[in-house]
Amino acid sequence: MTDIKPLFDDESMMKEPIIIAGPCSAESETQVLDTARQLAAAGVRIFRAGIWKPRTMPGCFEGVGLAGLPWLKKVKEETGMLVGTEVASKSHVISAIAAGLDIIWIGARTSASPFAMQEIADTLKELNADIPVLIKNPVNPDLDLWIGAVTRIYNAGIRRIGVIHRGFSTYGKHIYRNQPMWALPFEFARRHPEIPVICDPSHITGEHDMVAPLSRHALDMGFDGLMIESHVNPSCALSDAKQQLLPSELAELMKELTVREKPTGTPELDALRTDIDHIDSELLELLAKRMEISKKIGEYKKAHNMMVVQLGRHDSIMKDRTDTGERLGLPKMFVGRIMSAIHEESVKRQL
Ligand code: PEP
Ligand code: MN
Repeated sequence: MTDIKPLFDDESMMKEPIIIAGPCSAESETQVLDTARQLAAAGVRIFRAGIWKPRTMPGCFEGVGLAGLPWLKKVKEETGMLVGTEVASKSHVISAIAAGLDIIWIGARTSASPFAMQEIADTLKELNADIPVLIKNPVNPDLDLWIGAVTRIYNAGIRRIGVIHRGFSTYGKHIYRNQPMWALPFEFARRHPEIPVICDPSHITGEHDMVAPLSRHALDMGFDGLMIESHVNPSCALSDAKQQLLPSELAELMKELTVREKPTGTPELDALRTDIDHIDSELLELLAKRMEISKKIGEYKKAHNMMVVQLGRHDSIMKDRTDTGERLGLPKMFVGRIMSAIHEESVKRQL
C-alpha cells in the first residue's frame, strides 16, 4: 500500500504523537461538550466519542445513536477539534459522513468480520469518501485478519489509513483487560511501515491507573500515537467506567509524554545489535539440535510402541526450566511460554 497519504493534510495535526481522546461513549450533550472543552484546553486536537456501541452483552448501554452526531458537530464548531466516531455498518458510515465527521474508526468486533468490513468498504467506495479511517485490531490475535480488514478499506479507494492496537481477548484472568501481544502490532508495522500505528492503552489495560504508564511505554516502543478514553465523570460512565481518565489527568499525562528519536545506527548501537544477532543464531542452532534429538526420541518411542506425550515428564521439565530461568533472572511466565512452544514443536516431531 505504497500510496498511503498522511491521515490529515494539516501538518500540525500530524505532529507526533497523534493524540485522540474523548469518552468511550457520547452519553449526553453536556457530558460530550464538557469533556471536549477540557480536552481542547489540554491541547487535544482530535476528539473521539462512540455513538453506536458494540457491547458484549445485550441490555448494556448501546449508545445514543444518531442523536449524538449534532453533539459532535458542536464540539467541532466550538473547540476546533477534529471529531470522530466508530462505525460498524453501512448506515453508520452514511450518517457519519453526511454529518461531516473528520475521522471514523472501526472497532475490534467489526474488524474481525470480513462481511462487515466489506460492507463498510463498499459504502465508502459508493460515497467516494476521502475520510481518514482507523482500523482497530480484531478481537482475536490474527494478523492476516487485521491486514485483510485494512486491505478492504484500501481497495475501496481510502488512502488515509491508520490502525489502532487495542489488544486481544483471551480466556482467563490477566493483569490487562486485553492482551497486548506486542509481536502482532510490531509485525504489522514491519509489513506496512507506511501506515501509522496508534496504541489504545485504555482498552488494553482496562484500568484507569495503568493507562499513563502504558501510554509512556507505547511511545517509547515507537507507536505513532495514542487513543485514550477520557470522561468528565468516569465513575458514572455508561460504558468502560473503569478505564477512563479525567480530562485533568489526561492533561497531566500529555505534559510528560515525550517522543524518543528513531534509532539510527551509532557504532555503540550497531555493536550491541551484532551481539544480539550472534546470540539469536546460536539460540536457533541449539533449538535445531534439540529438535533433532526429539525426533530420535520419537523414533525410539515408535519402535517400542510408546505414547508420544508423557505428562509427568512434561510437568517436571516445565518446573525445572522455569526454576532455572528464575535463578537467571528470567520471569517464570516468559520461560513457561518459550518452553510450551518448544514442547509443542517437539511433540510434532515425534508424531
Ligand atoms: C471503543 O473504542 O470504545 C471500543 C468499543 O473499542 P474496541 O473496539 O477496541 O473494543
Ligand atoms: Mn470503550
